[in-house]
Amino acid sequence: MTPRVRFAPSPTGELHVGNARTALFNFLFARQQGGVFLLRIEDTDVERSEARFETQLMEDLRWLGLNWDEGPDTGGPFGPYRQSERSEIYLRYANRLIDAGSAYFCFCSPQEIEKDRQSALASGQQPKYSGRCRAISLDTARERKSKGELASIRLRIPDHPLRFDDLVHGPLEFPSEVIGDPILVRSTGIPAFNYAVVIDDALMRITHVIRGDDHISNTPRQVALFEALSALPRLSDSEPDWKLPLFAHLSTILGPDHTRLSKRHGATSLGHFRSSGILPEALANYLALLGWAPGDNREIFPMPELIEAFRLSQVSRNPAIFDLDKLRWLNRHYLKEAGPERILNLAIPALRDAGFVTEPLDGAARTWWLDVLNLLLPSLDELSQLPGHARILFEYDPKASLALDETKHALAEPGAREVIDALWAAVSDNAEITSGRFKEVLDQVKKASRQKGKGLFHPVRIALTGSASGPQLDRLIPLIEAGSRLQLPKAIKCSRNRLIEFREALLAQS
Ligand code: GLU
Repeated sequence: MTPRVRFAPSPTGELHVGNARTALFNFLFARQQGGVFLLRIEDTDVERSEARFETQLMEDLRWLGLNWDEGPDTGGPFGPYRQSERSEIYLRYANRLIDAGSAYFCFCSPQEIEKDRQSALASGQQPKYSGRCRAISLDTARERKSKGELASIRLRIPDHPLRFDDLVHGPLEFPSEVIGDPILVRSTGIPAFNYAVVIDDALMRITHVIRGDDHISNTPRQVALFEALSALPRLSDSEPDWKLPLFAHLSTILGPDHTRLSKRHGATSLGHFRSSGILPEALANYLALLGWAPGDNREIFPMPELIEAFRLSQVSRNPAIFDLDKLRWLNRHYLKEAGPERILNLAIPALRDAGFVTEPLDGAARTWWLDVLNLLLPSLDELSQLPGHARILFEYDPKASLALDETKHALAEPGAREVIDALWAAVSDNAEITSGRFKEVLDQVKKASRQKGKGLFHPVRIALTGSASGPQLDRLIPLIEAGSRLQLPKAIKCSRNRLIEFREALLAQS
């Protein structure tokens, strides 16, 4: 049988990384097994569900590389794939369960239910539905309903333990006494979560339910429902067999303080990671390792390798800890792998907002930016850091730099002033300092000042960049020079002009 799995988010907010991991595991499992991955939108909570969250989560899933085979937009043989469009189906099966005696009408008011709940809590018991309406005969119930009384529909929980095999947690069993008869359809006609999930999983022929372990406590109710549905007389061959799917409940994701990962730990939405310049392949790789381990010490898994290596049997039941540093480490790897062309296209909006580029970016300016990226990429954890790192090319403020202790110390070293003077002599002809020429300039300065190593490089770096640290100097200076000769929206000062300003600032200081 072809495995069929689903990701079933509720569009009530932004996609959280925990849910993204659930989607990823479903996707990997389906692709690994040559199965079907479907997207089902669980929007029965009309007050909290919003179309914009649905659009956003689809965009986020696609960005992460998780394409579905069946879903609200793509369609498929078991649609509609949006629960709000399936009300008639839920009602039809609820009526059949009532006719079969497995479900009943409940007339209890919210006030009565709340009173029962309070008294259970007061006597130290776990609240559950009292079963007050269980004994009302179907005829009486129908009569009361026809007179306008509001009723919900509840499932009769059977008198035996409810069991299922969990692929992550092993066999689980729940005594039926602790489980109150769950609502299937509210008096408003809206289906309850546990009910809609079961109807859909069966009708959509889901073979494996892979979801967060916060749903473990729902599962015995769902098991009871499958049981009741499988006892219904089968009306046609196209009806499902209501066989229990296999379950795999994924461990919770914790923050570094070992509490459930939430907004308190910083932004946790997929959109946040996306806009901060985490690459989708880095996030997918990272999320896969949250709870799954390949059994060797490999950590770098591009999507095709993830699909090949992923096994549900290697998923751990222990909570996984979200480690931002590791995500950044993986991102650094993929930023380098991605190459400057792709990264530049991704970075253009942020560079434009920083005033560093105008669009379209082409010709000599584009080539120059590709060289800049080649230099800066190895130092980036996240793409959003790029404008900050590129500042060293565009901004030059010797006065501010001379006010820094670090700079003062470096320039107070014996020989530092000689380096600056020799540098001035070497660049004052205003010829462009290409890579080749930069080596000559340095040799000239070295000879004239008799400085080498730090004593040579430090003052040169400070004088030409205004900063005591930064990217490799023999690559940075030629880029600054080349940039100063281009038409860029923010002009770059050439080395010679920088030195003029630097010497003035030095003079003004002494
Ligand atoms: N809609 C549920 C949620 O967002 C998922 C239900 C399920 O996977 O069974 O938590």
